Amino acid sequence: LDGLHAYVHVPFCRRKCRYCGFFSLPVDEAADRDLLDRYVEALSREAMLRAREAVGFDRWSTIYFGGGTPALLGPARIGRFLAALASIVPIPAGAEVTLEANPGCVGEGDLPRYLELGIRRLSIGLQSLDDGRLAWLGRTHSAQEGTRLAELSLASGLATSIDLIYGTPGQTTREWQDELRRAASLGAEHISAYALTLEEGTPLHADVLAGRVTLPPEELAAELFCATHEALRAAGYEAYEVSNFARSPSARSLHNLAYWRMAPYVGLGPAAHSFDGRVRRWNLADLQGYLRSLEEAAAGDPAGGGAARVGTPPRDSETLTDEQLLLEYVMLGMRQPSGIEIRRGLEMTGVDLARRCDARARELELDGLLVLDRERWRPTPAGLLLADALPLLLLEAPPEN
Ligand code: SF4
Repeated sequence: LDGLHAYVHVPFCRRKCRYCGFFSLPVDEAADRDLLDRYVEALSREAMLRAREAVGFDRWSTIYFGGGTPALLGPARIGRFLAALASIVPIPAGAEVTLEANPGCVGEGDLPRYLELGIRRLSIGLQSLDDGRLAWLGRTHSAQEGTRLAELSLASGLATSIDLIYGTPGQTTREWQDELRRAASLGAEHISAYALTLEEGTPLHADVLAGRVTLPPEELAAELFCATHEALRAAGYEAYEVSNFARSPSARSLHNLAYWRMAPYVGLGPAAHSFDGRVRRWNLADLQGYLRSLEEAAAGDPAGGGAARVGTPPRDSETLTDEQLLLEYVMLGMRQPSGIEIRRGLEMTGVDLARRCDARARELELDGLLVLDRERWRPTPAGLLLADALPLLLLEAPPEN
């Protein structure tokens, strides 16, 4: 038997950030206490209703509370939910249980309580060490609050990761390198550094469309990307994915590695995705629909729907074809220096990449973008920079001779 992975979506934030395309709604954790309680009840109920998805697994390997701002739930609610999960299959002491936490949303006394509950990793939404940039992004915290939370987390013994964003307008490569150096000096064992991206429907998207904001041109974006890798390498971090860096192999996020290796996972909460190796399912991004369906199930009064759907929140699904699985596997693999494993691709999809794309792969090797050996194809540093284009170049039909 194997371990299963859970993603738990908590769709609440104090305020929406300017660039954020995630499904989350603004709440005031004091005034909206009842809503947060109802949410945790609903989440626990969803987990129980979907317990059969854990058949064949003997434990939770990783649990990731993401969002949104899951720390707004506080230790007591998180503890109640973990107890529900643990009643399905155990959460062993060594499970990687991660809580995303924004500075200002975690009380000093909370960290020991989270540790007691089995949280092992804190992923801190630091984003920047510059107050001007934080304000521009629409974050609700200062750089000082961010560094303070990182220090507290490290001192408490939690594995600590910090998230950073680069590519805000006007940011120079030198400023970003300086910020990276300061972030690295905090001592977190893991850093995620993402380029600011445009998500449709966000205020930032509207500002860019209207010409009020201009994001960095492609050359500068590439320079910032390379500067990220150089600065973090110099600070002792190894890139194990284009945007993720760890001080040692044991500091890598097992939860993210599970996604990238296309392992099965269960996603709970509105907008959360699940995957069983072939079918992707997702709950709709509809908080009220989510709460209603699960509360009706609790009251034994399902409104409408056949017996099979009683109480389950509104969902949709997609069955991936071999071709889609292959594309996804290659896309995820080309974002990691460890690349793709030919045998795993074959096991998952029945397609032998070594036969199908051999000529194309050799061309990309000659171009300095791939390193090929019998078992694995790995992107070079230049290939990582083109991580999004590489799979398409690899899988496109070779030119006719
Ligand atoms: S805190 Fe995170 S999830 Fe919430 S609005 Fe900001 S970026 Fe989005």
